[in-house]
Amino acid sequence: MDKLNFAIVGAGLGGLAAANLLLKTGHRVRVYEQAPEIGEVGAGISLPPNAAKIIAAMGLGDELKVRANIPEKGVLRNGKTGELIQTSPFGQAVKQRFGDFYYQLHRADLISLLTEGALARDPDCLVTGHCLSSYETDPSGVTLKFENGETARADILIGADGVRSKVRAQLVGADKPEFTGYVAWRALIPLDRLPAEYARPQSNVWIGKGRNVTFYPLRGTSLLNCAMFASDSEWTAEGWNLPARMEDIHAAFEGYHPKVQAVIDAIDPAQCFQWALYGRPPIEKWINGRVALMGDAAHPMLPFLGQGASMAFEDAAVLANAFSGLVTISGALQDYQKTRPERANWVLTESAAAGQRFVSPAPTKQTFGKDGAMQMDKLFGYVPPVFA
Ligand SMILES: Cc1cc2nc3c(=O)[nH]c(=O)nc-3n(C[C@H](O)[C@H](O)[C@H](O)COP(=O)(O)OP(=O)(O)OC[C@H]3O[C@@H](n4cnc5c(N)ncnc54)[C@H](O)[C@@H]3O)c2cc1C
Repeated sequence: MDKLNFAIVGAGLGGLAAANLLLKTGHRVRVYEQAPEIGEVGAGISLPPNAAKIIAAMGLGDELKVRANIPEKGVLRNGKTGELIQTSPFGQAVKQRFGDFYYQLHRADLISLLTEGALARDPDCLVTGHCLSSYETDPSGVTLKFENGETARADILIGADGVRSKVRAQLVGADKPEFTGYVAWRALIPLDRLPAEYARPQSNVWIGKGRNVTFYPLRGTSLLNCAMFASDSEWTAEGWNLPARMEDIHAAFEGYHPKVQAVIDAIDPAQCFQWALYGRPPIEKWINGRVALMGDAAHPMLPFLGQGASMAFEDAAVLANAFSGLVTISGALQDYQKTRPERANWVLTESAAAGQRFVSPAPTKQTFGKDGAMQMDKLFGYVPPVFA
């Protein structure tokens, strides 16, 4: 296939992954991002092996290893009693079984890794300060219109513009994201504020009725990433930088184990943020003519399987693979449409079910047992398509 011009809207994790892989296959890519510069707030992110293999395919695997932590295990406990529910081996065990490691890193470090990767392939591929307002398709291409009055042409438009996607609104209709009932709090805590045991290379999840908390070290042993969730919230504001009210956190986790309280007590209130989690039901139609959706624009999911970004990476790998051979635009997009919705929509549905398990009133090994093991095989064992 001749070199095609791709316009990707959104320089989040999905858009940047697609840019890396499409540039690698030899196409021309422009990523239009509404923000004035590429960056990331947020905190930690887990990158399971299905995502790590795709980063390796971008040629960024060695650098990922430098920037990320590799936890040796995942430990699940009853939030109030501290009783051990389950231990999952990560580290070498996951690498041997699934072909790559389970990583954890700061989202900002992942965004900069993907940004550097894309810019190394084409220094002009990222265009900031461009908020898409609408697009028009015609037989020879797509015209993008931006709020700053500029326009751009492309052969193909990829909507990677997140849960409130404008591309999705135009492609499938303007349905609104729904509040899921979950509120999340996040904080990064300097690890020197906590006893040494919190710096152990392991991912910790503590579960109780309607609540859960996850914490793990980031950037070596310098920070502890802490994410807390409550399922019965009336808080519906969405922004990533809304200050958290510590009294809400203390009330939500009252009676939780002292090891959880120690983490909450170490949080600097000025560095703790809160937001409501929104979702959408699965949709089957991801393409129309020369336009395709990917990432949260296609399948926003709850974070309880830690697979949202991974699904965006898988979308990017399938798209790039579809456009790597001698195919037509419609044939390649049909391939993408045939392959991706089934898997991503399954993960979307399973993430909601996992949310219910993670707020169980009386969690036991059985709550997670067989289903969890099956999910791990199906999630981590994904083999990304190989492309040129
Ligand atoms: C608490 C929490 C924890 C999570 N933890 C994990 C985890 O551990 N592992 C994991 O795999 N996933 C995790 N996820 C999910 C993951 O963060 C998302 O699935 C992923 O970031 C989606 O990437 P995206 O590129 O599709 O969308 P986004 O990251 O939302 O990026 C969209 C981009 O598009 C831009 N944009 C939007 N509208 C426009 C427009 N009109 N014009 C131009 N640009 C626009 C935005 O500014 C943004 O840069 C978590 C999510 C949450 C909420």
